[in-house]
Amino acid sequence: MEIKKGISASPGICIAKSVIIDSEDYRIPRRLVEPTQQPAEIQRMKTAFDKAVKQLSKLQSGQETKEQRKIKDIFAVHLRFLRDRSLIKKIADMVRSESVTAEYAVSTTLREIASQFIKVKDHYISERAADIYDIERRLLKQLLGNKRENVEHLEEEVAIVAKELSPTQTAGFNKKFVKGLATDTGGRTSHTAIVARSLGIPAVVALEDFTDSVNGGDLVIIDGNRGIVIVNPDEHTIKQYEEYSLEFHEFEHKLDAIREKPAITRDNVRITLLGNIEFSGEAKLVLEKGGEGIGLYRTEFLYLNSPTEPTEEEHYKAYSETIKVFKDKPVTIRTVDLGADKYTQSKRFAPEPNPFLGLRSIRFCLQNIDIFKMQLRAILRASALGKVKVMFPLITNLQELMQARMILHDVMEDLDDESIKYDRNIEIGIMIETPAAALTASTLARDVDFFSIGTNDLTQYTLAVDRGNELVSTLYSSVDPAVLRLIRTVLQDAHKAQIDISICGEMASEAEYIMLLLGMGVRTISIAPPMLPELKQIIRSVTIEECNQIARKILGMNSERQISNYLRNATRKILPEAF
Ligand code: PEP
Ligand code: MG
Repeated sequence: MEIKKGISASPGICIAKSVIIDSEDYRIPRRLVEPTQQPAEIQRMKTAFDKAVKQLSKLQSGQETKEQRKIKDIFAVHLRFLRDRSLIKKIADMVRSESVTAEYAVSTTLREIASQFIKVKDHYISERAADIYDIERRLLKQLLGNKRENVEHLEEEVAIVAKELSPTQTAGFNKKFVKGLATDTGGRTSHTAIVARSLGIPAVVALEDFTDSVNGGDLVIIDGNRGIVIVNPDEHTIKQYEEYSLEFHEFEHKLDAIREKPAITRDNVRITLLGNIEFSGEAKLVLEKGGEGIGLYRTEFLYLNSPTEPTEEEHYKAYSETIKVFKDKPVTIRTVDLGADKYTQSKRFAPEPNPFLGLRSIRFCLQNIDIFKMQLRAILRASALGKVKVMFPLITNLQELMQARMILHDVMEDLDDESIKYDRNIEIGIMIETPAAALTASTLARDVDFFSIGTNDLTQYTLAVDRGNELVSTLYSSVDPAVLRLIRTVLQDAHKAQIDISICGEMASEAEYIMLLLGMGVRTISIAPPMLPELKQIIRSVTIEECNQIARKILGMNSERQISNYLRNATRKILPEAF
């Protein structure tokens, strides 16, 4: 039995056999073969091509629905590549001239082709890079056999163990079988952790070299509440955890009963609780957990778990499904926050040197106007169905906001020309997640209807600490005095300008931080749906007066450690059950 401590990323307990998966961006090491081995390597490569062709031809037959026809077209493109003799010759030449393995030659050659595609300005062509990577993966699977485990066809409950998981991989997991996640890397507010929380899958991240101490099939316990994992637990530990898991389920079940009660403090101050979602299917869960609308719809996930880029109709369909659940309650649709750790299929393998400071979010949209306009059209069309708000992420200066607004108005004019209905008075908001936006909030407030503070990124950019890097995770704190001062500035500026303001970062779901936020004047909060009942319970147990006192005290402190300790003690006194 071995116990490892990491960072708790999503609550809950999982006891299951492990499946170890490698990162999607798996690189094949450059291994040399004896010159006499070259013909055999070339033959292996050709056999892999033949098998891949057979596999795809089989998959192609018998497709019928519209969706399936789309997939068929994609496979037809893949087949053309796989039958291309010049490609096979190029790979064989590489094996001969460099004496490398078949897998290395396949991977290098295909990645070279993909990177040439990515450089092409034409969106349609650059998109094809994703197809090349798919072909590479298919061939490598043939060449490497079962050395890489597959989680697509699970038939029993498992715990996923990986060095690293991308938000895309996590979003694609089947909740029915994937019962827990444990990764060597990552942080509490990384998008992978956020997705795990939304899906309600227990997760522990930042386990350093955990993957080295587990074999596929080992029994593991993932304790997402305490941030620990146990490999090959003894009978006594298993029994203890089975009981603990039952208690935890009962506790969650009991909390669900709070659903119908209002989120109101003991001294009668009403707080609005909204949900953060990544997929339209989560909307119902928000409602079930007592949420009063959507405060953040992370629409970029439409791009992440689909092999093709979503069309306007697909955007529209996803939004309409969500709106249908909420009727006249607010649904805040954030325009795509692609880039950084969330790529479109074609950009997935072309990382930038500093992706979190690169072409991310609104910057990506302003340079890819077609994608942006298409999404805005879908949002506006959906606005005719309910109370939709549109929100731009990662705004850093007024110019970006003005550009985004101008494009939105262009799209409105197009819809007018086509006599398509939309809400002409749709509320427009921005996320405050850069220090630049926080410091100029009073200016930005003049041109928006609302702010939402994204504390995950605001903390990352203020403290210059990568939110997903476990090596600096102890430096990442949303209650650092610098972050708190920025939050206070934004709240004051929003109140002065009389615009709505909410918090939608993970900070708002932490029991220890919530009283401070309420004391600082926050009245609307948006968090992952599974966390809503607990948050409501806390709100119903405190008074604003207590919260104000805490905030006054904290805002006079200069050290993060002092603040954290104070908050921990204060929460323990007022809410002993939170510990
Ligand atoms: C944030 O940055 O706080 C936020 C809510 O957005 P995301 O986590 O999607 O970056
Ligand atoms: Mg953000």
